[in-house]
Amino acid sequence: MRVYLDNNSTTPCDPRVVDTMVPYFYQKPGNSASRNHPFGWEAEEGVDYAREQIAALLKVDPKEIIFTSGATESDNLAIKGVFEMYRSKGNHIITVTTEHKAVLDTCDKLTEAGAEITYLKVAEDGLIDLAELEAAIKSTTILVSVMWANNETGVIQPMKEIGDICEKHGVLFMSDATQAVGKIPTYPKEIGVHLLAFTSHKMYGPKGVGALYVSRKSPRVKVTAQMDGGGHERGMRSGTLNVPGIVGFGKAAEIARLEMHADAERLSKLRDRLERELTSRLEECYINGNVDHRMPHVTNISFKHVEGEGLMMTFNQNIAVSSGSACTSASLEPSYVLVALGLGDDLAHSSIRFSLGRFTTDEEVDFAVEKLVAGVNHMRDLSPIWEMYKEGVDLSNVQWSEH
Ligand SMILES: *Cc1c(COP(=O)(O)O)cnc(C)c1O
Repeated sequence: MRVYLDNNSTTPCDPRVVDTMVPYFYQKPGNSASRNHPFGWEAEEGVDYAREQIAALLKVDPKEIIFTSGATESDNLAIKGVFEMYRSKGNHIITVTTEHKAVLDTCDKLTEAGAEITYLKVAEDGLIDLAELEAAIKSTTILVSVMWANNETGVIQPMKEIGDICEKHGVLFMSDATQAVGKIPTYPKEIGVHLLAFTSHKMYGPKGVGALYVSRKSPRVKVTAQMDGGGHERGMRSGTLNVPGIVGFGKAAEIARLEMHADAERLSKLRDRLERELTSRLEECYINGNVDHRMPHVTNISFKHVEGEGLMMTFNQNIAVSSGSACTSASLEPSYVLVALGLGDDLAHSSIRFSLGRFTTDEEVDFAVEKLVAGVNHMRDLSPIWEMYKEGVDLSNVQWSEH
């Protein structure tokens, strides 16, 4: 049995999505920008329909959807595009320490071009402080960028409240909603989000295609294109459209619109069962992030004194999850998201992210629970630290020898 519980990294493509894409590889090979023959029209029809399906999921106008290669590109286009377009109004951008690298690295890059960035901290539960956000806004602030739901913890930020603050101060609000779109309702117009980045491969569509919602009315937002060329996508993103990918993305959006509530209900029960089993059968495990404001299919758990990467090796590659350690060139670094929540390096390294998905079954979760319980017990049986802990040694006061 191979169990995939890493749906926040990428989701499998829904077979119904694949079926819709297939004709666009061979029978309908046109370039959607070819205006003078039926092959082009056919491809354009496919793209137009997908744009409508995606707009319906967000309750926005199809003209407000710009296709890109994924959320990384959408984040870059939104942040760099706003900075360049509104530079004369100011250079200050506010974001959060727990954002995805696609946002953090983009902001970081903009400092070379004269941007000033404020990184808001989060509380232990992963939520930002609204008063701190409001206090950070100044006359030069042009953009607030806060992700809808966190990829590592599933924590959902208070989007409506953030939208209200941005509205009050006349500041643009951008959100990386990659982990939220298609899983929970994400209606930018109701929230006051002006730019929304998301991607197909996190919502059961194909990889390599994403979108950016850009508000066209009250306010009419413009972003400077980051790629020069044929002027596709209303001049905001040049390049021949990935027609089969976009058609699949559209189908994925339609399925999500119709099924997300049923999926969320089933998956939250399954997630809760996973959590309940693990926390009742194992000592010393902690759930990371706010449990009332989080995505229905995600849980992030620290198993004290058990190193996550080692624990994963006990699964014999039968279970795919994600650990709270990030591989850098030289070493294993604790996840910066968990560190931002105040976890020490040890607890961050001992955490595992479980992200369930549309195709996760009850049997798979039960199988994973058994492997997890056995794996944690095995690791702890071998661990001198765990033995000391069980003997009541206060590990925080131990003087570790240098050699
Ligand atoms: C996956 C992810 C991205 C990157 O999306 P790609 O389509 O792979 O570029 C950006 N932001 C968040 C929150 C993500 O989870």
